[in-house]
Amino acid sequence: DVTQPLTDLTPAELQDYLGRQRAAYDALKERGLTLDLTRGKPSAAQLALADRLLDLPEGFKDADGVDVRNYGGLNGLREIREMFADLLWVEPDQVIAGGNSSLTMMHDTLVMCLLHGAVDSERPWGREETVKFICPVPGYDRHFTMLASYGIEMIPVPINADGPDATAIAALVKDDPAIKGMWIVPTYANPSGTTISEDVAATLVAMPTAAPDFKIFWDNAYAFHHLTEDEAKSVDILSVAAAAGNPNRPIMFASTSKISYAGSGVAFLAAAKDNVAWWLRHYQYASIGPDKVNQLRHIQFFGSAQGVRDHMLKHREILAPKFAAVDAALTAALDGLGVATWSKPTGGYFVNLDVLDGTASRVVALAKEAGIVLTPAGASFPHGHDPRDRNIRLAPSFPVLADVETAMAGVATCVGLAAAEKLAARHTASA
Ligand code: PMP
Repeated sequence: DVTQPLTDLTPAELQDYLGRQRAAYDALKERGLTLDLTRGKPSAAQLALADRLLDLPEGFKDADGVDVRNYGGLNGLREIREMFADLLWVEPDQVIAGGNSSLTMMHDTLVMCLLHGAVDSERPWGREETVKFICPVPGYDRHFTMLASYGIEMIPVPINADGPDATAIAALVKDDPAIKGMWIVPTYANPSGTTISEDVAATLVAMPTAAPDFKIFWDNAYAFHHLTEDEAKSVDILSVAAAAGNPNRPIMFASTSKISYAGSGVAFLAAAKDNVAWWLRHYQYASIGPDKVNQLRHIQFFGSAQGVRDHMLKHREILAPKFAAVDAALTAALDGLGVATWSKPTGGYFVNLDVLDGTASRVVALAKEAGIVLTPAGASFPHGHDPRDRNIRLAPSFPVLADVETAMAGVATCVGLAAAEKLAARHTASA
């Protein structure tokens, strides 16, 4: 078996490797697989961990005597706000507990900024000639498609091991008032798996911005989603921003989508008090109150912030072996070949796979032909365009472990085949 960089092989050795990869790929196709590694969805086993929710709530009053069946309470039930304030390192009065989707809260926030302007805007963003956002890449595809749907220009900036490239971002926002905001997934980012450092976070909330109303959409979707004992601690961004004199810059989002039920969890927004008041002032025209029955059953199900942490350990037990299987399959087939690097995340839902430049689309197409569906190449970039065509997001949470193992062995075959094809074509071209 080849264990040295493919670029070191002689043309004959490379042909040999290519032949073996083709044979392995043909065998893979013959198996007629139907496997899906596309989306970061919890598996049935993970969802089942929360099935007691189906028998809750007991009664219909919360600790304050609120009848949760009725209208009202736009900012959500006190106890659930307290529980998640504790988990997110914020104060309860900085938290709004909303409906089932944090993505919806991000979207509502963006639309409020466009139509009304943020608390510190001179006019609605929609009245600006151009609105631009900094987009750390690779990033969450739905963040980017949301911006695209409103014609917001996206400026990609790379993510380093300690978070988005703060030096590059500071240089961009300093002089361009059209740059109104940026996305950050601070902990176990989708898909890079990186966690932002205190230093990078501090720079981003303190840096001078030409736009007085620059906003950081701080999407803490994976704050408690650890895969190892080495638990990343979320930066206390609201305090850091307040200390830097920019309390209104970050708006945090989170949800229980990957804690309880992905489709029926509780979503949260957390921000400085002025932002919270701004949000509720506009949201009062959209809702008379959130689904408090769902909030109450979550309060009863978890019991406390510690109850949430304990619950996350059960997810970890199910997820960690799947992530280990991804790493094992890639290591077995590709280690040392110099044609792929991949993340070894300690949390979150994704493995970030970078293949040989110019082969990601080919890998995804090969896998598809063999019955293994991957997220489209480039999905983690604005407008789906990965300039190097090398990035593939792997989502191993949903299939059962045996399927993850089978699918990943197949993916590794496709990565090796696509790389060998590319390198062999280079040999031919230069011959
Ligand atoms: N943010 C990120 C970074 C995500 O990966 C996801 C889910 N894939 C979401 C938000 C969606 O969250 P919700 O279910 O709360 O809308």
